[in-house]
Amino acid sequence: MSSAVETATHEVLSGPPEDLRQGLSDFIAECGEPSFRTRQIEAWIFETGVRGFDEMTNVPPALRTALGKRFSLTPLEPETVARSNDGTIKHLWRLDDGERVESVLIPTRARLTLCLSSQAGCALGCRFCATGAFGFRRQLRSAEIVAQYRESRRVAEQELGRPISNVVYMGMGEPLANLDAVIDSLRTLHDGFGLGARRITVSTVGLVPGIRELARRPEPFELAVSLHAPTHELRLELMPIEKRYPITELFGALRDYQARKNRRISLEYTLINGVNDDEELARILADQVHGLTCFVNLIPFNPIPSQPDWKASPRRRIEAFSATLDERGVPNAVRTPRGRDIAAACGQLRLSQT
Ligand code: SAH
Ligand code: SF4
Repeated sequence: MSSAVETATHEVLSGPPEDLRQGLSDFIAECGEPSFRTRQIEAWIFETGVRGFDEMTNVPPALRTALGKRFSLTPLEPETVARSNDGTIKHLWRLDDGERVESVLIPTRARLTLCLSSQAGCALGCRFCATGAFGFRRQLRSAEIVAQYRESRRVAEQELGRPISNVVYMGMGEPLANLDAVIDSLRTLHDGFGLGARRITVSTVGLVPGIRELARRPEPFELAVSLHAPTHELRLELMPIEKRYPITELFGALRDYQARKNRRISLEYTLINGVNDDEELARILADQVHGLTCFVNLIPFNPIPSQPDWKASPRRRIEAFSATLDERGVPNAVRTPRGRDIAAACGQLRLSQT
């Protein structure tokens, strides 16, 4: 093997998009190729969504080979693909070290949403979440996050005949606990693949430093916060993160975020029967969000194996909770779980073998 082959290939999609352009244009110059090739190659990566340099048919074969030796586009192979009878498609992707992560395509009439993973597993241990019960394996590199989008985009076009309209960081992992890679991936989706910032939502358990960092960014990415309880005591029972970033500090960060960004914030509230679905809690929640422009998504709890006694709140309790928020002028909607039959719904993502 020559030393060039032994050199580890560089993942061009890890890092911010300007590094990709710089790396490619330096290499093109090194190879004595005309500078327009950089733009051509970028178009293959971002517009066509190729997963290898060999697919770039208008690039000279010798250059394709040289590029393939130096750089990698981080192709992901699906270990399994599961299709729900409601149209949802779940992929389990195998990463280069054998770790695996899931992403889910969720079609509705108006949107095609991709829910992607930011970590293999999650360290934060929310008691209602299957990924939390599974524990943390490792951070994803930004190339691995972006590759879930690229591979899913192909599937969306081939199988569903339409492009992905929205991306949500609501798969496995806590995006703001992998902040640098997640910000690089957001920038690549936005500046590289051309997805509008308002079509990309970062969902967080409430890591205050990460929320403050997102607030400083120029792009208006959407923010969703997993709340699930309006009081310190109850939130602490459900979500260990409440110990580190208590709800008052969290709301302080959200108010600052809103003052800077002027964007509506989504609050996610999973309704677990008899645990956090009392009408009184809806009243406290309404007081808590006073002055914040927000939208509360009420999600019926999706059952998970590690909590055999917990069930989704029955319809009438969900409606009562929602009506109490309505009465107090808090915009909210009850979300229908998707892909339950293939364990693709919110909070159900985990590796089935473990
Ligand atoms: N770590 C991030 C994003 C991944 S979780 C976060 O916590 O926001 C995506 C969403 O699914 C979160 O709102 C999470 O609270 C919710 N969720 C987790 N387990 C669930 C379950 N069993 N049923 C319904 N929603 C759940
Ligand atoms: Fe991690 Fe989010 Fe699940 Fe909590 S809800 S354990 S932060 S993935």
